[in-house]
Amino acid sequence: MPTLFHKIIRREIPADIVFEDEHVIGFRDISPQAPVHVLFVPKETFATLNEVPADRPEVVGRLALAAAAYAKAQGFDEDGYRIVMNCNGDGGQTVFQIHLHLLAGAALGRFGA
Ligand code: 5GP
Repeated sequence: MPTLFHKIIRREIPADIVFEDEHVIGFRDISPQAPVHVLFVPKETFATLNEVPADRPEVVGRLALAAAAYAKAQGFDEDGYRIVMNCNGDGGQTVFQIHLHLLAGAALGRFGA
């Protein structure tokens, strides 16, 4: 089912796009949880991580490597960053097209602390 992220990919609704290649788009989260908060989304449709086939690891790998490339290009790779993917209700997923959150620009609290 198309989501608002599909509409961003198709330029049907606006977004602050900061990264794009053949497979992945990256745009700023509308409600940032850190000074830098970018979402990396595959152009291919997968509602959750559960739908990514075991023989398609590149779908997730591309998201992580796009985030790392963006961090390096922006110069915060050495200071560090966090990547997160939420899955379904308990994971806090609200948009059902897989996406990786990149959070950076400040010292983030230890996860679970
Ligand atoms: P999830 O909770 O599914 O892991 O993350 C969805 C993210 O999408 C949230 O962090 C939320 O702030 C962001 N978001 C929701 N609607 C929009 C929108 O219209 N534009 C942008 N750029 N981000 C959105």
